Amino acid sequence: MPEAHHYRAIPRRALFHLEPRAVGAWDRQRLTSYVQHLAISSQISPHALRDHYGQWPYGSRLRGKSSGPTKAPNINGAGECARSWSAAFNELTGREDLETLTLLPFAEFVRLGGGAHLHLRRMWCSRCLENDVATGNLPYERLLWSIKQVVVCPLHEIPLVSECPHCGRSQSIELSRDCLPGHCGFCQHFLGDGVLSNTRVSGSEPTEYELWVARDFGNLLNLSKDEVTRASHENVRIMILKAITKACDGRPRDFAENLRFARGTVMNWMAGGRRISLTVISSLSWIYGVPMRAWLLGEVDAWDRHCCRELPREIHRDADFRARSHWYDWEAARSRLLGRMASSQPLLGVTDAARLENMTVETLRNRLPDVYKLVRDAAASKRKEAGEENLVRLRERIRASIEELVRDGITPTRTRVATRLGRGLFPKGEAIYWEELPSLVGQPLSAKAMERAAVVRAKNKA
Ligand SMILES: [Zn+2]
Ligand SMILES: [Zn+2]
Repeated sequence: MPEAHHYRAIPRRALFHLEPRAVGAWDRQRLTSYVQHLAISSQISPHALRDHYGQWPYGSRLRGKSSGPTKAPNINGAGECARSWSAAFNELTGREDLETLTLLPFAEFVRLGGGAHLHLRRMWCSRCLENDVATGNLPYERLLWSIKQVVVCPLHEIPLVSECPHCGRSQSIELSRDCLPGHCGFCQHFLGDGVLSNTRVSGSEPTEYELWVARDFGNLLNLSKDEVTRASHENVRIMILKAITKACDGRPRDFAENLRFARGTVMNWMAGGRRISLTVISSLSWIYGVPMRAWLLGEVDAWDRHCCRELPREIHRDADFRARSHWYDWEAARSRLLGRMASSQPLLGVTDAARLENMTVETLRNRLPDVYKLVRDAAASKRKEAGEENLVRLRERIRASIEELVRDGITPTRTRVATRLGRGLFPKGEAIYWEELPSLVGQPLSAKAMERAAVVRAKNKA
């Protein structure tokens, strides 16, 4: 009989052989999805894989908020967590390429260990998942869907989804217990729902900008291993200098304005004193129609076909950015808001106004105090008017109910009137009821009723 320790010795890599999907391509699998596949093929739950086959230094989640071992942003990112997960699974599966299922190949160009570039929720394209199954494969989730800027599927040109069509919940943890690839982690339903994805929700057409960004990041993931090694900050710097000569008449200020960044920052980039992240390169790619891969690889020829486009206004949502930006056209914002107030669809309030201009209420109040006051007061008086109108309507309905009851020979009690209105009478309705009652019933009220009416009226006045 063998010694006990023989039973404990796990044959290395015995169970764990699995090829990642679309490795090296734009639609490559993401690491969390690969771990799910590995769990299925080895008949071990993802949790067991995590807990028993490796020690994971997890790393804290985006901006040090909450931390958790299976938080997706970390695993598919470019920080310590992604590094240790891919290293551990490389070891387990006998592979050397699992970091390509994360943002690690672009670690030089991402901030916060990739956390700044990843969606906080599990995202997917329902049509892609459906296609996987239709072609006889296990559905798998793409790394591209994890990238924050990517909100549409470049292949199917439909918005990515984060809410389960069956239970309506969204996941911030990708490797939740019993979570299967392409299936909801809560209700376990398949996420590639045919019915929902075939009928396009109106108003959800991807914009030209969204499609550009999705394809741009897709092309980035399509870079060969050799090309990724050649990508450098020096190339980006060369491209910035080229942009200023080719598209901005040599004026760094124009470049800064196109990008909506401070000129000082741009000067810093030009001097090579400051690094530039994928987020900014993605914006530049859209503005000048020069793809991200050209920026990273320093393909200066791309400038022969450049254009100049406006960055969508909602791109810089950052209130802080707006508050310190000197380029922002506050006068244009003012006239837009005033124009809207005079239109047939006036603003609902300051929150509405701020949202319309993609800024916070605080920024609106600080930068355009007069407009802020106008909008606030207009909304308040509008609310007051609406309240008064409602009271008039309520009075009419209470009168009508009392009259009907009297006509039918039924005593118009408070409860009966309330039932006819389909709701309770408190508190305004009750006062109206007592006010209207004596004139409508045509006979003096009892002493008790008079007392009651007086109490309600006094309370309402106070
Ligand atoms: Zn798709
Ligand atoms: Zn669900």
